[in-house]
Amino acid sequence: MSENVKQLQQLEDPYLSARADDMEDLKKRMINRIQNRDSAGDLDVSELDTRKNAIIVADNLSPTQTIELDLNYVRGFITAEGGGLSHTAILAKSLGLPAIVNSPDCLQEINEGDLLVVDAAQGLIVVNPDEQTLQDYQQKLAELQQQNEKMRLLVNQPAQTRDGHKIALFANIGTEKDIALAKDNGAEGVGLFRSEFLFMGKKQAPSEEEQFLAYRHVVEQMDGNPVILRTLDIGGDKDLAYLEMAKEMNPFLGKRAIRLCFDKPEILHTQLRAAVRASAYGKLKIMFPMVISIEEIRALRTILDDVTRELRSQQVPIGSNIEMGAMVETPAAVMMAAQLIEELDFFSIGSNDLTQYMLAVDRCNPDISHLYNPLHPAVIRAIKQVVDCTHRAGKWVGVCGEMAACEKASMVLVGLGVDELSVSSPLLVNVKQTLSQYTRQELSSLAQQVANAATSEEIEGMINKLIKTAG
Ligand code: PEP
Ligand code: MG
Repeated sequence: MSENVKQLQQLEDPYLSARADDMEDLKKRMINRIQNRDSAGDLDVSELDTRKNAIIVADNLSPTQTIELDLNYVRGFITAEGGGLSHTAILAKSLGLPAIVNSPDCLQEINEGDLLVVDAAQGLIVVNPDEQTLQDYQQKLAELQQQNEKMRLLVNQPAQTRDGHKIALFANIGTEKDIALAKDNGAEGVGLFRSEFLFMGKKQAPSEEEQFLAYRHVVEQMDGNPVILRTLDIGGDKDLAYLEMAKEMNPFLGKRAIRLCFDKPEILHTQLRAAVRASAYGKLKIMFPMVISIEEIRALRTILDDVTRELRSQQVPIGSNIEMGAMVETPAAVMMAAQLIEELDFFSIGSNDLTQYMLAVDRCNPDISHLYNPLHPAVIRAIKQVVDCTHRAGKWVGVCGEMAACEKASMVLVGLGVDELSVSSPLLVNVKQTLSQYTRQELSSLAQQVANAATSEEIEGMINKLIKTAG
C-alpha cells in the first residue's frame, strides 16, 4: 500500500494524486485493525473546527491529535484512558489547556451537547451544572485570571533564591510556534525543544530545510540565549503515521529515540544537518535522549562530527563549539554518569522517564499512577548521584522533566545543586515564586535530609515543614 501511495503521489493529475491521502488513510486503518489497536487513530479532530468552545471527550488522544487541536475552538479535553505523565497530558499543560486524562466512564456519562465544567486543578468534571455551580465556577475562573495577572509581575524577574542565588530557568517547547509563549513568560532559554513534535501531524518527515527554518527561528528568537534541541524521540507513546514501526510488547522499553535513529540513520543525519546549520544563528546545543552507554555517545559524537565536517566542506555557515549533551532518563545513565559526562558537555535529567524506569512504573498507566512518584527516595538519590558526578567533572546539569515545575520537587532539585530547570512556559513564574521564598542554605539542608530519607512520606514531611516556615 505504501508503494501505491507513492505511485499515486507521483501522478500529475491533481485529482488522482490527491487519492494518495485516501490510500494512506486506508492503510492506517487496515494496520490498526490487523494489529487490534483501538480506533483512536481514526478520530478526525479537524471536524471540530466549526464548533465554538468545544470540549473533546474521547477514549484517548494521541500526542499527534493533541498537537493538531485548534485552540480557537477547543477549550479542553477529557479522555477515558491515559496517564498524567503521557505526552498528551504534558502537551495540554504547555498549551494551558484544561485536561482530565483518566476518566474511565466519561464516554458513558457525557452526551453530545452537554454543558461541561472541566476543573483540571481538582480533577473534577461537572456535567450540566446548575445555575449556582456555574456561577461559582465563573467566579473561580475570574479569581484564577486575577491571580495569573499578579504572577505576571514576576515575568521579567530573574529566577533566584531569597538570598540571590540564581538558577537558569528555561522553557520546554514542542514546535517553533511555542517560542512566542516561552518569551512572553520570561524564559531565559529553551531547556528542552522536543523536536519530535515537528514531525507529527505530517504526511512525511519534515525536510532538512523545513527543520532548519524551525530551529533557526527558535534560536534567533532566543537572541543569544541557549536553545537545547533534543533529537527525535519517537517510540513509547509517540508514533508517526508515516514511519512504519512494529507493534511492540513494551513500547517504552522498545525501539525508542536514539535506538530508532540508529536504525534509520538518514532521519538523524537530516536532523543534525538542520540543527548544525541553525547553530550559525545563535546558541544551539544538541541533546540526545534515552542514552544507556558510552558506545552510544561515541557513535553519536562520530555522526555529529561527520555532519559538521560535511557542512564545513560545503561551505555552509555553522556555529562554533556546539555543545553536545545527553538526557539522563535511564538507570544505566545514572550508574554511568561519571563516565558519560567525561565525553559530554552537559546533562539534562529527564525525570519523567527516569522515574518511570527507576521505579518500573509505566508513566501512562493510570492503574499504577499512585506508584509513580519522582519524590521516591530512589529517584532523589539517582538525581543526587548525577548532580554530584557532573559537578565533579566541572560540567552543568539541568532537569527538564515535569518535576522541575512542581513546587516541592523544585525546592529539592535546587537544594541538590541542579544548575538549570526547564518547565512548560505557563509555569515559569510559579517556579520563580517558589524559589524566591527560600535561601540557598535552607534548600541545600533540605536536600541533604531528603537524600537520606527512607520513604516518600518522610520526604514530603521534610518539604512541608520548610514550606510552613516560609508561611
Ligand atoms: C523526560 O523524560 O523527563 C523528558 C523530559 O522527556 P519526555 O517527557 O519527552 O519523555
Ligand atoms: Mg523522556
